[in-house]
Amino acid sequence: MPGGVSSPVRSFRSVGGAPYLVDRGLGAYVWDTDGRKLLDYVQSYGASILGHADPDVVATIKRAAEKGTTFGASTEGEVLLAEAIIERVAGCDLVRFVSSGTEACMTAVRLARGVTGRRRIVKFAGCYHGHSDALLAAGGSGVATLGVPDSAGVTEATVADTYVVAYNVVPELDDSVAAVFVEPVAANMGLVAPVDGFLQGLRDECDRVGALLIFDEVITGFRVGFSGASALYAITPDLWCFGKVIGGGLPLAALCGRRDVMEYLAPIGPVYQAGTLSGSPLATAAGLCVLQQLDDAAYRMLCGRAEELERMWPPVFAEFGVDVQVVRVQSLVGLFFSDTPVHNFDDAKRSVAGGKFAPFFHAMLDRGIALPPGPYEVLFASLSHTWGDIERTVDVTAAALGAASL
Ligand code: PLP
Repeated sequence: MPGGVSSPVRSFRSVGGAPYLVDRGLGAYVWDTDGRKLLDYVQSYGASILGHADPDVVATIKRAAEKGTTFGASTEGEVLLAEAIIERVAGCDLVRFVSSGTEACMTAVRLARGVTGRRRIVKFAGCYHGHSDALLAAGGSGVATLGVPDSAGVTEATVADTYVVAYNVVPELDDSVAAVFVEPVAANMGLVAPVDGFLQGLRDECDRVGALLIFDEVITGFRVGFSGASALYAITPDLWCFGKVIGGGLPLAALCGRRDVMEYLAPIGPVYQAGTLSGSPLATAAGLCVLQQLDDAAYRMLCGRAEELERMWPPVFAEFGVDVQVVRVQSLVGLFFSDTPVHNFDDAKRSVAGGKFAPFFHAMLDRGIALPPGPYEVLFASLSHTWGDIERTVDVTAAALGAASL
């Protein structure tokens, strides 16, 4: 396994040291193969919103597996999950299941070009939309962590039609633009909230030139609220990319959108897309089981945990003279070592350049708290994180700051 990992964000490349090997997880915790118990804020980068090994999800997966794991034919589970998504997301008429967020975003590029007959794609610096070639330009997350603006192996021609612009500024488009991709809440350059008017400005500008607006809600979908970020900000895109939460911890994602746009997809339309394991019966069953547990009360609870961290964390850093910005959007929390607010990728990179994250990360890990191992990631609390877990996080932060010289 190159670098010892199946996905680079899991390596400790940007924080140093060797990553722990997870043996098992339960609720808010994971245990590594040395038997160490860690309070886990990784939670599969947002895929485990209920916490690890939720008993209902595990039972659902077992039941589904006993009926067969994959058929190469449609199943009722896909229909039920598609219906659940459509019921929650206003403006979403049709759902195409795929196996990863990367696939959903990659398909969105092709679909947008197929629908509009245009070439250009606009994305924002620091937003990550998976690792398909056309979107691997100035991505955040692991790409930013590794310090490579693009990837070797992506030709100039492949990204020649990808325009990268600054987050939180509405770009002026022209009629060569097929689509604008955006994380409605940017969560791959740390956590950066959209400024007032940004998402509405994108909607208006896309409408003005006839481009599609694509919300990449792989992280925000069904996490920042019952219906995700489009409902939170009252902006309806033309297409959505969902992932993580909707698979209940199994490989599942979806491209969703307005009927007239989605009907360009094969087999009805001319835009080809396919997948042997797409809409896996295990993943759709797990995803539906998770969505059924995510009612308003669940989101209030999840949000409450994040609010507590937002309230209790900054004074601890202040006590040790460490400048931070603790950013919260609903249940998502981000931490920047910066004395000024962060609005875009340049601001985020400046805060990371101070080099404070790695010693902080290790000081927390040594005391049993696992943060995502990169300065551009966000913290994912689950519904299994208790008030006690949040309080312990704050106490451990004080001990970590006392021990690490930042
Ligand atoms: N889009 C966003 C916003 C993401 O955060 C990610 C992954 O973290 C992706 C797309 C890609 O999803 P996947 O890792 O399932 O391919």
